[in-house]
Amino acid sequence: MKIAIYPGSFDPITLGHLNLIKRASRVFDKLIVCVMVNSAKKPLFTVEERVEQISLVTARFDNVEVDHWEGLVAEYARLKDAGAIIRGLRALSDYEKECQMALINKKINPDVETFFLASSEKYMYLSSSAVKEMAAFGADLTDFAPRELIVAIEERVAQSRQA
Ligand code: ADP
Repeated sequence: MKIAIYPGSFDPITLGHLNLIKRASRVFDKLIVCVMVNSAKKPLFTVEERVEQISLVTARFDNVEVDHWEGLVAEYARLKDAGAIIRGLRALSDYEKECQMALINKKINPDVETFFLASSEKYMYLSSSAVKEMAAFGADLTDFAPRELIVAIEERVAQSRQA
């Protein structure tokens, strides 16, 4: 069985992430979307909330699982017997950082290959930060965030601005 891991912060998951999940889930037998715990970042949503949100919006994909991991993705891949790590490439600015990460992951776990999926044109400039910024200015998130999560994102962004 070909298993792939899609690691990320997903704070929050956007339509760009979801587009990647849909496309990668067609190529692999199983895709595990893994929320990576990064203690250096102050997230908008807790890890548990992000896992719950991703589970909700990926429920229609039979071969997609959601998990979280506090550690190296290459080690997580080994644990799950996954041969592939999926990452998205948007503008050129993603490229250098992603290549460096792919090399490090290969060094830690030589059995794992990183696969880059080009972002769809529609989501080329979409990021979780952009969604948060748009929410802060009261912009309509319909084209950027999963419908089911829009109210939660708007509310949390408003709360965090009051704090
Ligand atoms: P990280 O903190 O690991 O970069 P993100 O949640 O920001 O976590 O992104 C996870 C992965 O999804 C990264 O590989 C990123 O390039 C990719 N990604 C994010 N937004 C998009 C998008 N709009 N289109 C394609 N890939 C994307």
